Amino acid sequence: MGRRSCQGLTGSPRVLKKMPTDDLHLIIIGGGPAGLTAGLYAARARLNVLLVERGSFGGQVLTTHKVENYPGFPEGIPGPELADLFQQHAKAFGLETRSETVRKVWTEDGMYLVELGDHTLRSSSLILASGSRPRQLGVRGEGRLRGRGVSYCATCDGAFFRGEDLAVVGGGDSAVEEALFLTRFARAVTIIHRRDVLRATPILQERARQHPAVSFLWNTVIEEILGEQQAVGVKARNLKDGTVNEVNFGGIFITIGHEPETDLFKGLVELDGDGHIVADEATLATSAPGVFAAGDVRRKVLRQVATAVGDGALAVHSVLKYLEDKALLP
Ligand code: NAP
Repeated sequence: MGRRSCQGLTGSPRVLKKMPTDDLHLIIIGGGPAGLTAGLYAARARLNVLLVERGSFGGQVLTTHKVENYPGFPEGIPGPELADLFQQHAKAFGLETRSETVRKVWTEDGMYLVELGDHTLRSSSLILASGSRPRQLGVRGEGRLRGRGVSYCATCDGAFFRGEDLAVVGGGDSAVEEALFLTRFARAVTIIHRRDVLRATPILQERARQHPAVSFLWNTVIEEILGEQQAVGVKARNLKDGTVNEVNFGGIFITIGHEPETDLFKGLVELDGDGHIVADEATLATSAPGVFAAGDVRRKVLRQVATAVGDGALAVHSVLKYLEDKALLP
């Protein structure tokens, strides 16, 4: 590790070479745990940095009722509270942020250009931390009834479904967590999973299996979401015997994973078959020089808040090395 591993990231403020107007050392795209951690580290390193986020700061943490596996919070912490702390922390060190949608990203003369609503910013380096969006089932009725009984976020919408019978589709951590959360409001929650083995972590599985309001429909896929103005149920196919049944539900929560937000980056950096950014594990460098990827948007084994913040820190470490090699730092 170079000297910057300590001094650059945690040392006292340094005066940097003046950058031309509007030229930045670093633009961070995305304000989830990875982006905000990168912002914190970059601001502490006194980089000329801007973080751009199109929605609310915090990313998917915002839609998590309670984060139980982020160290330092033995009782767990509500996702929105953790997101707020991340944001406050970065801003306390002077991170500048902008709430705008990035329209286009491209490279010209060794600089990266980021087009926002009505103007374009130039930067020597980028950290892509745009996260992911909920995957859709892609069945009839899903799009039409979205927001009318079809939801992708129990934390956001659960309270609208008091006393209802609800379905949660999926078998991962999100599905089981969301199902358990929904038992606060629902009469009963059915987890509909395409296999007969959950992917979720054992502790969550135990909680779901032991909960009296949670039941399972195994080996089952949804063929259609039923309802005119409001979702009223699903057409479900049993994959073992091929039978198709209509089952009534007052709400259907779809939690079948996420897709990376990388549409903007096609052609700029290498993506894998699933659309995740391919980045070097040791540096988080992408295929484009000076562009680094952090958090859920990149190809990685474990997508958690804890790994996202690690990515944010490492990406800035690599940015500093890149800028230093280009003699852009004093
Ligand atoms: P995930 O782990 O990818 O699980 C997705 C689930 O949806 C799987 O059970 C999968 O079935 C199912 N599925 C996928 N496509 C489907 C389709 N078209 N039709 C029906 N079912 C489909 O996604 P996730 O639960 O959102 O979790 C994402 C990441 O975040 C994971 O790494 C997870 O560990 C992490 N996470 C962690 C926590 C926590 O630590 N507390 C909480 C939430 C999420 P198969 O199993 O058959 O593939």
